[in-house]
Amino acid sequence: MQTLRASKCGLSTAQLPSSILDVIDALTKAGYEAYIVGGGVRDLILGLNPKDFDAVTNATPAQVKEVFGRRCRIIGRRFELAHVYAGRELIEVATFRAPPKKAVTSASGMILRDNNWGTIEQDFARRDFSINAMYYQPRKGIVLDFCHAIDDIKNKTLRLLGDPTLRFEEDPVRMLRTLRFAAKLNFNIAPEILEVFTPEMTQLLRDISPHRLYDESQKLFTMGHLNRVLPMLIDFDIWRQLFADISPDISTFIERAAINTDQRIQIGKTINPAFFYAVLLWKPFLERCNFYLNKGVVPAEARAQAGLDVLKRQATRTIIPRFAETFIREVWEMQTRLLNPKPQQIQALSTHARFRAGFDFLLLREKSGDDTTQGMGLWWDAYQQMTTDEKERAISQYNRQRAKSRRKTTTEDVVETKSVAAVAEIEPLVNEPEPRSRRERKSRTKSERPAQPASSNGSEIGYDHPILKRKRVKRDLSQVVFGPTQ
Ligand code: ATP
Ligand code: MG
Repeated sequence: MQTLRASKCGLSTAQLPSSILDVIDALTKAGYEAYIVGGGVRDLILGLNPKDFDAVTNATPAQVKEVFGRRCRIIGRRFELAHVYAGRELIEVATFRAPPKKAVTSASGMILRDNNWGTIEQDFARRDFSINAMYYQPRKGIVLDFCHAIDDIKNKTLRLLGDPTLRFEEDPVRMLRTLRFAAKLNFNIAPEILEVFTPEMTQLLRDISPHRLYDESQKLFTMGHLNRVLPMLIDFDIWRQLFADISPDISTFIERAAINTDQRIQIGKTINPAFFYAVLLWKPFLERCNFYLNKGVVPAEARAQAGLDVLKRQATRTIIPRFAETFIREVWEMQTRLLNPKPQQIQALSTHARFRAGFDFLLLREKSGDDTTQGMGLWWDAYQQMTTDEKERAISQYNRQRAKSRRKTTTEDVVETKSVAAVAEIEPLVNEPEPRSRRERKSRTKSERPAQPASSNGSEIGYDHPILKRKRVKRDLSQVVFGPTQ
């Protein structure tokens, strides 16, 4: 172990937000050891802007809770951690971990529970990459480096601590982390990792919960180097593990969307990871639509069903949260609405909550050479820049062209000319599917219940009747004697 002078590594307390210093100081004052570790230290040394700062200490989560009281919450089961709220920020405080006990690893060697507290040396050995395992004590102005990590930083090398096969088996998500850090930092992956990073090894990702894989996919999408990591996901055969039905090739559309995402992050704009999922799943969605159309299903129904099918398949790999799934389906449905809008709905559409995302998606498709958008991406682009008068003119011109191209009058046209007010309202883009979990289903039925007053005439039981609030007693039916009264 070498102790480096923080200033020699380009570190100073001036770079740190008060939140992390508060946490380090409070733990130190209470008599514990406390360090900043992980990505925060690594990024500062590299001159990058850290996403967040993680703290590590010899205090157990319960002791951390004692120090911070109500500002602290203990979270996680597999990996217990303390969350400390410092101002508006949240700092993750982990306790030094020792190697997991045998009993808590799965048959394939995966760690199922990891709450065995230990020393700083043991904690170091449990971390993933050398560059993520530097311990910075800002008040003492020192960095503890147990493995010449500083050299790996200088040589831009991503090196796993310990035997790479074992480390991947313990936690297969480290494969995703390898690609994420290599892409984000533009580091070389050490040869001993490359040697074992085989398609067979990536199969281990099948054991990881789709919830955790969704979180990881989000990190990949939002790290600012999505365009760099996408080909790596294919080369290392991770793509197939993450995306159920998306063929492993990067279309111009996907590439443009990735570049666009990275650019947005670079200029500090927010991004919605669900948007990129909408892009990735667009082709499978269209194929599924065609499947239903060929079966004679009407288009609106085909789109609705195809959307649900594609997302359900994807959920076998990464479980996209319900609100994000709804967003994706709405963006897809917007494509139909924006492609062929009813003239009376154009203004209302342009102020719809999903317009911006739907329009961005349409324009991306168009700019990637998708001519099925029929130039409507640019049309909407221009429309948004127009004055009210220009907008009216553009709409009537669009209306004339639309009528001409249609020729024969359909019933829809008749409705359009009847009453502007009648059709100016936008129908809901998608219907909410059944909630996934039982708790969600329960809360939905509750909120959908009509507000029914408590029964006044005694003939009906109202929802708030005490009898309905009674706890149901679980009875062991084998003990019950069924007789005439039962
Ligand atoms: P980021 O910039 O994405 O936050 P990070 O390195 O801080 O990168 P975190 O996921 O925040 O990554 O984790 C914090 C630290 O915890 C890591 O630097 C690493 O030391 C350790 N760590 C995280 N995940 C693992 C893992 N799966 N296996 C071993 N160590 C891990
Ligand atoms: Mg971090």
